[in-house]
Amino acid sequence: MMMNALSKYIFYPAWDLKDGSHRLLEWRQLEKQQWWAQKDLEDLQLSRLNSLLIYAETHSPYYRELFNQHGIKASDIRTLKDIERIPVTTKQAIRNGGDQFISDECKKTQLVSAKTGGSTGVSLNLYFDDTCQEKRNAAQLMADRWSGWDLGMKRASVWGNPPVPDSVKQKLRHNLLDRTIYLDTMDLNSRSMGAFVTRWRKEKPGAVFGHAHSIYIFAKYLLHENITDLRPQGIVATSMMLLEHERKTIEQAFGCQVTNRYGCEEVGLIACECDQHSGMHINVPHVYVEFLDGNNNPVAAGEPGKIVVTDLNNYAMPLIRYRVEDVGVYSERTCKCGRGFPLLEKLEGRVADFLRLPHGGQVAGISLVERTLTKVPGIEQMQLIQEQIYEVVINRVKGREFTEQTDKELTSAMREVFGEDVGLTINNVDEIPQEASGKYRFSICRVNQ
Ligand SMILES: [Zn+2]
Repeated sequence: MMMNALSKYIFYPAWDLKDGSHRLLEWRQLEKQQWWAQKDLEDLQLSRLNSLLIYAETHSPYYRELFNQHGIKASDIRTLKDIERIPVTTKQAIRNGGDQFISDECKKTQLVSAKTGGSTGVSLNLYFDDTCQEKRNAAQLMADRWSGWDLGMKRASVWGNPPVPDSVKQKLRHNLLDRTIYLDTMDLNSRSMGAFVTRWRKEKPGAVFGHAHSIYIFAKYLLHENITDLRPQGIVATSMMLLEHERKTIEQAFGCQVTNRYGCEEVGLIACECDQHSGMHINVPHVYVEFLDGNNNPVAAGEPGKIVVTDLNNYAMPLIRYRVEDVGVYSERTCKCGRGFPLLEKLEGRVADFLRLPHGGQVAGISLVERTLTKVPGIEQMQLIQEQIYEVVINRVKGREFTEQTDKELTSAMREVFGEDVGLTINNVDEIPQEASGKYRFSICRVNQ
């Protein structure tokens, strides 16, 4: 407790002052802004959007050219709705445009860089400056606290490739601030999880962070071993694939509710659940989010739409109307917590996770997996891979209630969706394989989109 208080009141501010960071300042603003009325938040977004557009028009060669081509002037964008005149920026455009996106005021070597995973087929190099990075960290801090974690508490991370501190400064920082214990998800077995439990009992972290499915595997281990004394204040699932049954298992194992969170390397935190766990609040001071149909027209509340994000923090490499390739549903209802940040009702999955139906149309693979797991008893886990339009492979992990009926029911559940013409192959597997990034994908479409 003593160390928690010290870390909260002394080490955090001291470190930020030392780094000349704006993180705490921005965090304090966010703590207030989250309670603002929606109208005031829209005004804030519009003024931030205007500044960004004027900057991009002047300093980003890509957007200067794009605006020119389409006869758009930044000063013509007077309402949030006016942004719809600007064409959507795709991953492909970033890949082709490369350095053309970067501000002519910035040197690439002085920027923070990030690389997105290539699992959707397009890997990107992104750049942002320190101020943008600090603002993103501030938003994380705000959202971390929504989960029940607080400044100064230790953290448990269930992550692929945990960072190893390699300098004295990093070590110091690690001990004072990060104070994180890691479970490496690239090496999950009863020995590594057992050692992690021992470490947890010693360090008593206040919250656990990680990919939903990795936390779920650890939760299953705890339930199996009858370990009931790991009691965090918060659990943050940062992968978008938080399946309902996994949420329940995790909550049972830790006696604590799961906070679902959505973000990406490209723009940072997009949305996060509050303590009501009913939809995710969109981080509107930092991102302007739109939901669009196949023709890039806005969809209505309650309808699934492709998520398009404008990063209001990144001036070094502006991203305006960037299509993340995820599908989500927004809501116009307000949250009981009273926060003014609007709600992302749910995520339907990545565009690449949608499976093709042979006679036209698509199905959200993640939803199909979720529904099948609820409907068909005896399946622990499953993954759908559509190799060709008429060929779907089902990797299936047997559950406790597995009988010879299970696969028949699984097949007929799939037939209801795909019809009779699609070849179905069920593979019995011990676990769903991990991606190189440590993430899991439950639905993969390899048919050309
Ligand atoms: Zn809320």
